[in-house]
Amino acid sequence: MLVDSHCHLDYFLRDGDLNDALQRAREAEVGCMVTIGTRISTFDTVLSIAENHSDIFCTVGVHPNEAGDEGLSSPDVLIERSQHPRVVGLGESGLDYHYDHAPREKQAVSFRAHIEAARETGLPLVVHTRDADEDTVAIMREEYEKGEYPAVIHCFTAGRDLAMASLEMGFYISLSGVLTFKSGQPIRDIVRDVPMDRLLVETDSPYLAPIPFRGKRNEPSYVQHTARVLAEVKSVSEEEISRQTTENFFRLFSKASTGTV
Ligand SMILES: [Zn+2]
Ligand SMILES: [Zn+2]
Repeated sequence: MLVDSHCHLDYFLRDGDLNDALQRAREAEVGCMVTIGTRISTFDTVLSIAENHSDIFCTVGVHPNEAGDEGLSSPDVLIERSQHPRVVGLGESGLDYHYDHAPREKQAVSFRAHIEAARETGLPLVVHTRDADEDTVAIMREEYEKGEYPAVIHCFTAGRDLAMASLEMGFYISLSGVLTFKSGQPIRDIVRDVPMDRLLVETDSPYLAPIPFRGKRNEPSYVQHTARVLAEVKSVSEEEISRQTTENFFRLFSKASTGTV
């Protein structure tokens, strides 16, 4: 069994073929999926997907690209919405300087509100960081000194310093289809040094389809291709990667272990 620890199934609902995509995921032995919140205003749609399928959970949060309009200055709404039994984590939140869709100051304030919610609830924070390594590490560290919190760096594309700082704080690293790209060599080099018990896999679908589907719409069943490359990088069998990443997932997202099949 594999877990797709990060996907955006509301896009499939909009495309009208969610059930087909889920069918293919189950055939590919993807036994659990987490559909990720990106805005409070669309959270109910994300939650409804998790409510309607026993193998899907969700998170609540505001994506850094949405922090301009919907950025949070307080953790209250996150704490409140995360009481729901199908909500197993917070985010995605963090810093995105690649698109700079939202003012950096607002991204930072919203990121800190999410961290506070993770600290309060004990639920893991899904961190999105793109072209913002230094500021991301600075905020995560500063907040960590106020009190620890669980987190995963999702769709890891950052540098070695961010990876090592995250591991020191006990965080997890999640690999997406980017791991399979020809240009993914720097990521593969870092992943080689990440302990096996800190690794997760994800699709981030509908974005970032792995080789051999690069450029197409991504979907949860494709997580097997990232897992296969991860097995090569770590020089272990695919079965070992499935077993270990699934175990890691349920350790980090422990609320999901009580609600799944
Ligand atoms: Zn992201
Ligand atoms: Zn995402």
